[in-house]
Amino acid sequence: MTDQPDLRSQLEEARRQGIDDFDKADSPQSLYEARTRYLGKKGKVKGILRGLGRLSKEERPLIGQCANEVADALEEAYQKRQNELKSAQDAQKLEQDDIDLSLPGTWTRRGAVHPLIRTQLEIEDFFHSMGYDIGEGPEIETEYHNFEALNIPPDHPARDMQDTFFMKSGHVLRTHTSPVQVRYMESHQPPLRMIAPGRVYRCDSDVTHSPMFSQIEGLVVDENISFRDLRGTLEQMIHYIFSPDIGARFRPSFFPFTEPSAEVDIECFACRGADPQCRICKGTGWLEVLGCGMVNPAVFEAVGYDSKKYTGFAFGLGIERFAMLKYQINDIRLFFDNDIRFLKQFV
Ligand SMILES: [Zn+2]
Repeated sequence: MTDQPDLRSQLEEARRQGIDDFDKADSPQSLYEARTRYLGKKGKVKGILRGLGRLSKEERPLIGQCANEVADALEEAYQKRQNELKSAQDAQKLEQDDIDLSLPGTWTRRGAVHPLIRTQLEIEDFFHSMGYDIGEGPEIETEYHNFEALNIPPDHPARDMQDTFFMKSGHVLRTHTSPVQVRYMESHQPPLRMIAPGRVYRCDSDVTHSPMFSQIEGLVVDENISFRDLRGTLEQMIHYIFSPDIGARFRPSFFPFTEPSAEVDIECFACRGADPQCRICKGTGWLEVLGCGMVNPAVFEAVGYDSKKYTGFAFGLGIERFAMLKYQINDIRLFFDNDIRFLKQFV
């Protein structure tokens, strides 16, 4: 009986001292050593319990229970101090490091290809796969390359038709990509097949016209090139860009640099001609997409090609027109406003 209060007070003393020692520990190492002194196999709590043997049967469980409570309290104090030391260590590390890896990162929006460029790249892909070269030319062009070499003499009404921007230097802002054809033929000999994508300028502005817009010009020159080659090529391109089951029709037209000339319509992919109220085709069932024709022999002569030996076809299409049809956009100005709400629909 006499030993019980003694062991109990020893345990209580161990609890008080242990908690005190743990609180004083200033490193994980010293804390661990303090824990071993109290809770280890040879620690104080176990040491006190060695005195259990001297106690009566009734007293032993009581002191055992007390020892468990003290061990639990010490373990809890140890955990608490361990957490404190870890937090202090983290805070110190944060102060030393420039980068805080626990903070959320900076969020950046994913960009996307502009719908005009996307359409241009698709058309380029098609012609590239058919072995066409890509030609380039200046946007500030000589009148000769923009007009004369394309069979448009100074008094020709087509000069007015195209609403040209004339420059003081006597140059013009090119009204079409066709002068690139001329420049390409000046530096290459047939057979050739090329396309020329680029910006062109006309003094015209409304919901379907912009003073600056983009065209793709195409030219094929070889012996025995016929209108059938032109038709097959453009139909394949239309199927590639719009839909494999879309029909196309060729209507007679006039361009000074091609003879015969045609304008190409595609079937309205929205209504297929079935809706007289159709917003896209205005009930006609057809959508005009490009102009084309067999190269006028006068154009070959201007670049020194033998127009008796060679024939060729040429076409020109508006990239904005294609993109507006493909994505059902009803105002050309949306392409140039850089409104993020418009552009992010194409991500
Ligand atoms: Zn329609």
